[in-house]
Amino acid sequence: MKIARPIAALIESFQKLPGIGPKSAQRLTYYLLHVPQIQLDDFAESIERLKKDTVLCSICKNVSEADPCPICSDPARDQTQIMVVEQPLDILAFEKTGKFKGVYHVLHGAINPLENIGPDEIYIDPLIDRIKKGKIKEVIIATNPTMEGEATAMYLKKQLTISSSQLAITRLGMGILTGADLEYADEVTLTQSLEGRRKL
Ligand SMILES: [Zn+2]
Repeated sequence: MKIARPIAALIESFQKLPGIGPKSAQRLTYYLLHVPQIQLDDFAESIERLKKDTVLCSICKNVSEADPCPICSDPARDQTQIMVVEQPLDILAFEKTGKFKGVYHVLHGAINPLENIGPDEIYIDPLIDRIKKGKIKEVIIATNPTMEGEATAMYLKKQLTISSSQLAITRLGMGILTGADLEYADEVTLTQSLEGRRKL
């Protein structure tokens, strides 16, 4: 039996998502056939707007509706303290703790020689530019406690030391973190790793 083309097309789209195999893709697609049309229209509109209505903040590279993003343009945030993270989701995780009052910088990845991701493929240069403009007192490196995250932290340390001599460079207290990704860490763990940060 041939599957109707609109169904086959959606199954194919779902299958391209991470963690979705052929069975899940079929299940999701047939599930959506039972959902009211109005909800499907909303869903389609959200997908359509996802990239059209967002930008990367020109300062911190976070995904935002406005440029600069609400965090960079918030006068209550400490602009002299930058936390460097791999992904925008890491910002969400730290914002949930409410314990960090500085600003962020999103690399959008980590150095990974096996996948040909070098320093030029992630947003390291814009971070160096921010440091060179002065005013920054501390950079907290919050890349993941993985091989790639550690390699990125080491590289950053070297580059940042060259760019500024008065800068404090710290790393989250990773001994406390057990998972590989910060975004999965709970709020207590993240708060402890922030408080337990050490000089690099
Ligand atoms: Zn920003």
